[in-house]
Amino acid sequence: MPSKIDFDNLSFSIMPADTMFLGRCKAEGIWDKGAYLPYGNISISPAAGVLNYGQGLFEGMKALRTKTGKLVLFRPAENGKRLAEGAQRVCMPAFPVDKFVEVVCEMVRRNAGFVPPYGKGSLYIRPCLWGTGAVLGVSPAPEYTFMVYASPVGLYFKTGFKPIKLEITREFHRAAPKGTGGVKFIGNYGGVMLPAQKTKANGFSECIYLDAREEKYIEEVGAANFFCVKGQTLLTPKLGSILPGITRKSVMQIAREVMGLTVIEKSLPVEEALAADEVFCSGTAAVVSPIGSITHEGRETVFNDFKVGKVTQALYDHLTRIQLCEEEDRFGWVVPAA
Ligand SMILES: *Cc1c(COP(=O)(O)O)cnc(C)c1O
Repeated sequence: MPSKIDFDNLSFSIMPADTMFLGRCKAEGIWDKGAYLPYGNISISPAAGVLNYGQGLFEGMKALRTKTGKLVLFRPAENGKRLAEGAQRVCMPAFPVDKFVEVVCEMVRRNAGFVPPYGKGSLYIRPCLWGTGAVLGVSPAPEYTFMVYASPVGLYFKTGFKPIKLEITREFHRAAPKGTGGVKFIGNYGGVMLPAQKTKANGFSECIYLDAREEKYIEEVGAANFFCVKGQTLLTPKLGSILPGITRKSVMQIAREVMGLTVIEKSLPVEEALAADEVFCSGTAAVVSPIGSITHEGRETVFNDFKVGKVTQALYDHLTRIQLCEEEDRFGWVVPAA
């Protein structure tokens, strides 16, 4: 057991948990029963579809330890469904959703010693689906691998919320209309490294991408979904070329059904977002991340004096409390892993 882990100084870097899962699918979508193996390198053909043509998807989820010591997951079947839907888009066999949830739960049990103590972080879980069979032409691989590995990560906001500074990029697009932006396709991520590097060099945390057709509407933030609050209305870009975040979906449901806000999904013009009262983004890692300012065409718009807005705070509190079993789980989102 990993007694050597310094749970007080975890960051978001890989410190692999002992056990990983590996399953293979050779033909017609029939998966073998797979195996739990010691974390380590895997052997793969140089002609693997994933290496040559990027035929791959990933997921990101986290296991938490509650105050009473239970190990829990948040909506794991949603990650399984998203992976299965993405598989269709890139011609891969789906990994069954029930089996997905079973494997993820078993990974948490087997790596329980790597789940940080209550309040110190989470066990980040990374399921992957790859075309690992050898192919020469651009076509689907003859064999697939489903892998799951995990790593403890620290709290996203160690010293409390700090509203971030973002910049709207006109230099890059993340996703094209009718492209692959709506799935957690590995090929979408290599392309956002340069924009992220450039915006960070300018002092911003991340950049906001606009729609590729008109460059008028906000799409999303790096790997997080975008929201803004105006009065009693919560607005967020509609699905299409953005990634359908599970946190996004959960935030919308809490806003509508718990907080009584009006929730609107639509093409969200930049000007409308810049005129909002509060702005934030959402994703598994940070849950909800307040945005303090957005710079667009050289002009910075500050929101709520760089302080965390009331709605943003309430959504963050409610969602994180559900995740830690400190709030009634009225939607049945929390799944015990052990
Ligand atoms: C993963 C991801 C998100 C957030 O999704 P969650 O399910 O909430 O973690 C948002 N945008 C992109 C591009 C992503 O890859």
